[in-house]
Amino acid sequence: MLDAIGQLFQGLITFLSPILIPDWKALLTLFPVLLLIGVVGPLISLLAFGWFVYFAGKPRARIPYVEPQPVPARIVDGQPVYPAGEPYCAVDQLVMPFGMTRCPTCGRDLAVTCPKCGTGRMAWIDTCGTCGLVLKIDRTVPALRPAAPPPGGAAAA
Ligand SMILES: [Zn+2]
Ligand SMILES: [Zn+2]
Repeated sequence: MLDAIGQLFQGLITFLSPILIPDWKALLTLFPVLLLIGVVGPLISLLAFGWFVYFAGKPRARIPYVEPQPVPARIVDGQPVYPAGEPYCAVDQLVMPFGMTRCPTCGRDLAVTCPKCGTGRMAWIDTCGTCGLVLKIDRTVPALRPAAPPPGGAAAA
């Protein structure tokens, strides 16, 4: 009975020995593979991690807000063309960002063309004197006259 167990144990040892005792020759053959797994693997993981950090961190690295800059007016047939509803300086022929009322170059009041009827007026006047269209402007200089109600405009209650 004990002998049988001993034989079984011996058989088990014989069976397990190739697994338990490292086969160095085989390991040496596997060395480049292990090197590949051990070195290239972490390197790729590191690259993937770096890539992840870069893209995950990207939305946080916001582009700093830049103030809108005056742009030169488009010249058509030698004449500057100013887009309706946008303040402009006729002296410097510059189209200003919406909301500006004074030219930063020459200090003059900016003009604006009504997008509805095409009437020109000062940019700090937010209501068109001809058609009554109101342009909401965050004024940098206060309006000198109160906005007139639209002509014949009974407000819809
Ligand atoms: Zn100007
Ligand atoms: Zn108008």
